[in-house]
Amino acid sequence: MEQVLQVKNLTTCLRLGKNDFPVVNGISFNLHQGRTLALVGESGCGKSMTALSIMRILPSPPALPSTGEVIYCDKNLLKISEGEMRDIRGNNIGMIFQDPMSSLNPVYSIGDQLLEVAEAHLGLYGDEAEQKVMDALEDVRIPDPKVRFHDYPHQLSGGMKQRVMIAMSLMCEPDVLIADEPTTALDVTIQAQVLNLMKDLQQKKGMAILLITHDMGVVADMADDVVVMYATKEIEKGSKRQIFQHKAHPYTEGLFNSLPQVHQPKEKLNVISGSVPSIKKLPTGCHFHPRCPYVMEVCRQGEVPDFPIGEEYSTKCWLYKEKTCE
Ligand code: SF4
Repeated sequence: MEQVLQVKNLTTCLRLGKNDFPVVNGISFNLHQGRTLALVGESGCGKSMTALSIMRILPSPPALPSTGEVIYCDKNLLKISEGEMRDIRGNNIGMIFQDPMSSLNPVYSIGDQLLEVAEAHLGLYGDEAEQKVMDALEDVRIPDPKVRFHDYPHQLSGGMKQRVMIAMSLMCEPDVLIADEPTTALDVTIQAQVLNLMKDLQQKKGMAILLITHDMGVVADMADDVVVMYATKEIEKGSKRQIFQHKAHPYTEGLFNSLPQVHQPKEKLNVISGSVPSIKKLPTGCHFHPRCPYVMEVCRQGEVPDFPIGEEYSTKCWLYKEKTCE
């Protein structure tokens, strides 16, 4: 599969007071045409910060310019001008957010907002632009698109608003779609509909998807490849099969163990003890060591290297110093 976006050693810091704190620390992965890579971890691990760094839409200050490389069409997106980057956002790399209202304007009808995209990004006007908007609404299975065209965002349900957002992001047929917790705010049945829609559109249009989620069920449904993040760093990455089979890193194991089982009482859920540390107080050594049931002396000091444990499968955990999983 063709590689469409390469992220190499991406690092972003926030300047808070007189100090700089990393929020994304040395993340690397590749996105491939027609495949979905899930970036997984609890809230506060740096997943959304990774996406916002790729898109260069973090407010600065407090964010400092990211370092590393984000390669798209032989260009490092971290180095191009803001004007070039603006063209790439929307035209080539689209993004949808958890809360569609953060991107939809409440005072314009959805038709007008989609027409604006057709005009500004595709140079279409009049009947041609209107047809493009109708096609986009049909693609995302909005019923009665001619009627819905005139609706304002508040007249649509959460699932419908998310579909409009997807339509807006896909109108320019981007090579990459970044979806940040796209279904978290939706109820379970609508969640499944939106995820299925994204899968169908990916098959039809062949884009690469970077899916940000904390939900292993969504990963199971959608992902081909997985990067697990913890406290600003990637801690395990491989194919979905490898990760689901081995759950090599103790944090990944904890994420799986905390999935609710059918008929399991709420008080018996196996949660990972403790919480994600603040970026201002990251533990030394392996950032997970205060929560890890297997912690050893070596874990408390120094950087944990990446240990390869299979083909294109690695983890940052001292338990794997001399182990392979395949
Ligand atoms: Fe646990 Fe040590 Fe592995 Fe970190 S490096 S996850 S503390 S065993």
